[in-house]
Amino acid sequence: MHESMKKILEKIKEYDKILIFRHFRPDGDAVGSTRGLAEILKLTFPEKKIYLQNADFSEYLSFYGKEDELLPDEEYADALGILMDTATRKRISNQKFELCKEYVKIDHHIPVEDYGVIQWVEELRSSTCEMVAAFYDAFKDELKINAQAATYIYTGMVTDSGRFRFRDVSGETMRLAGVMLDQGVDTDTLYSHLYMRDFDSFKFEAYVHRKMKISPSGVASIYVSKAMQKKFNLSSEEASSAVSYMDSIKGSLIWLAFIENQDGSIRVRLRSRFVTVSEIAENYRGGGHACAAGATVYSKKEMKKLIAEADERLKNYKENNEGWL
Ligand code: AMP
Repeated sequence: MHESMKKILEKIKEYDKILIFRHFRPDGDAVGSTRGLAEILKLTFPEKKIYLQNADFSEYLSFYGKEDELLPDEEYADALGILMDTATRKRISNQKFELCKEYVKIDHHIPVEDYGVIQWVEELRSSTCEMVAAFYDAFKDELKINAQAATYIYTGMVTDSGRFRFRDVSGETMRLAGVMLDQGVDTDTLYSHLYMRDFDSFKFEAYVHRKMKISPSGVASIYVSKAMQKKFNLSSEEASSAVSYMDSIKGSLIWLAFIENQDGSIRVRLRSRFVTVSEIAENYRGGGHACAAGATVYSKKEMKKLIAEADERLKNYKENNEGWL
């Protein structure tokens, strides 16, 4: 058991009010881990006030409904903040977390910034939800769970691991996923929510496959302008899913989606197998995991530079490694 787990449980016990935060532009892991932990704490400590305090919302996960309304500032002063799935404080969705009396960090990203009175960071975990499952499992004599909490947690375990496909999935991941399934997760409904797409989205996928480019060494990339997002009637979240349409092209070990933001800046999503791409992201105001990272560029010129850097990296990788696909 990680040494911080017990400390976090003790800290939770000290407080009557607990506010739970996550990163902005939430994914299944951010939403699942915060909702899952909140549910476990509500069940276990019915006398405590537990609130999700986030300033944005995910359309993709809207089947889970809205999160809690933001509390007035003065409500933060006597609360413990739990900041989840977020490597750096500036990525927290609701910056008012700073008003909390104390806060702790629970995360599985590469630790680039220390923050919080207790930090429980395990970068080898496949998801923050896996950590919440481990937390429940470690203290299951004390903590309560139900099918709803397990479903939130299982959602993040499934989505952040690419459906249990990425290399950080361990035997422990699967054992903990089993612990969650045993609580009665309705996987038919969950997977329907995760996989169902509007017809427009299939047309967009066809567009991505038609327009994507492959660099000399095999970097696949697509640029999705604001005009295209409008044409296909896409939210920026839907447009961002373009990256996953390029994930299994033989020889393309790096694939990149460039999504134009409303303000003209360009969100970059970097993905890879075998090759590390987080270092490229770090050169362009970003970061993330070795094989899944994000960044921002401010012009087409900068976009081309990033692609050239990725191409060079892939070239080196292919020259110096064998057995890649
Ligand atoms: P995304 O492509 O936005 O899903 O991001 C992939 C991974 O990289 C996630 O784990 C993000 O938390 C991380 N990430 C994305 N953008 C940034 C950024 N600007 N700075 C640091 N990490 C990021």
